[in-house]
Amino acid sequence: MSVGAFMVRGVKQVVKVRMLATGDQAVALRATLRTCNEAASWLSDRMHTDRVRDKRKVQKRFYTDLKNRFGLSAQPAIRVIGKVVDAHTTLRANIKAGNYGPPGSPKRTKVAATPMGFRVDAAQPFDARCLSWQIPETVGGRDAAVSIWTTGGRCKDVRVLAVARDLVLLRTRPIGETDLVCRDGKWYLYATVESPQAPLAEPVNGFVGVDMGIVNIATTSDGHMAAGARLNRYRKRQLNLRKRLQAKKTSSARRLLKKRRRKEARFAADINHQISKRIVAEAQRTGRGIAVEKLTGIRARVRLRKPQRAAVHSWAFAQLGAFLGYKAQAAGVAFVEVDPAYSSQTCHRCGWVDKRNRRSQSEFECGRCRFVGHADYNAAKVVAARGVQRWGEVMRPHAAPPLTAS
Ligand SMILES: [Zn+2]
Repeated sequence: MSVGAFMVRGVKQVVKVRMLATGDQAVALRATLRTCNEAASWLSDRMHTDRVRDKRKVQKRFYTDLKNRFGLSAQPAIRVIGKVVDAHTTLRANIKAGNYGPPGSPKRTKVAATPMGFRVDAAQPFDARCLSWQIPETVGGRDAAVSIWTTGGRCKDVRVLAVARDLVLLRTRPIGETDLVCRDGKWYLYATVESPQAPLAEPVNGFVGVDMGIVNIATTSDGHMAAGARLNRYRKRQLNLRKRLQAKKTSSARRLLKKRRRKEARFAADINHQISKRIVAEAQRTGRGIAVEKLTGIRARVRLRKPQRAAVHSWAFAQLGAFLGYKAQAAGVAFVEVDPAYSSQTCHRCGWVDKRNRRSQSEFECGRCRFVGHADYNAAKVVAARGVQRWGEVMRPHAAPPLTAS
């Protein structure tokens, strides 16, 4: 998904597919990931040393060397460059957003000074030229398979499994970039597909604004709150378990740790699905669109070694935003991302911006018009108003001032 100013059309969703690789195929896939990630770390290092970040410049300067040094074909080399450049962009956005602390803090300084490293088994993106799909129309999609480029040559007829609904998506929708992922010795493809879309309904009654946070996962401008208490309690319990496991330092403890982290991610995803479903249904029922704050990309995070992994919550917010986006599109509900600048300090009633308006984590009191209310609710109202404004700009593109990222 592009980090565009807004998304009205072309919302994408990710479909997870299990690969049933044979022994030989698995060996080839493993070698491919290793080579691509060694290439990525090498490139990252060079970019850091030479201070080159622009994609075209990186390509011009390092492409040939990268290809020859690691024996990559043209497309995989391009994808490695794309992956590293994206990761750098995300990292810089996260540094700027303060996710590694304020300017001058030891962590922030360290993160900025360390060349980014890629795990040898980190995910690698593929496109249509190095990955093709064969998905028969039979129900259940038996005999679905892919053909994928590897450093040891093309792997043909790698059987794949996915739930029926996802196979239909893969068969009927355009497939974009797809990540090759290895987890606990199992192989997966995370395919980006364009979401189905219903005819877009004009948001005649304005926008539902959604504020995302840690205490309240989602607060809407209607005043509905999805409290994070259950999720945060669960996280705390998991954290305690993790601490005990971490102290053990055995390989079985490490395996368990991984399992726990994934369970937690599934739990959070489940909650995000429920929340987004409810919000989209409400917007659709009331003839409104949905507005959320624009977030910086998180795709690169999971691929990186410490210390560049950003705050633990950022991915959960991005996921909720993504779920809202594709569910809205499937339902024909307008969806916009708005400028997040000062939304928590702005009074939704009179527009007054002041840090002191936000009295505490939960209290908002306007210093001008004296509006008093929950801080998240106020922020959601601000986002809703920005949604209306943004929509006006989208509909009259020539009059639209560029959305400036904060
Ligand atoms: Zn006010």
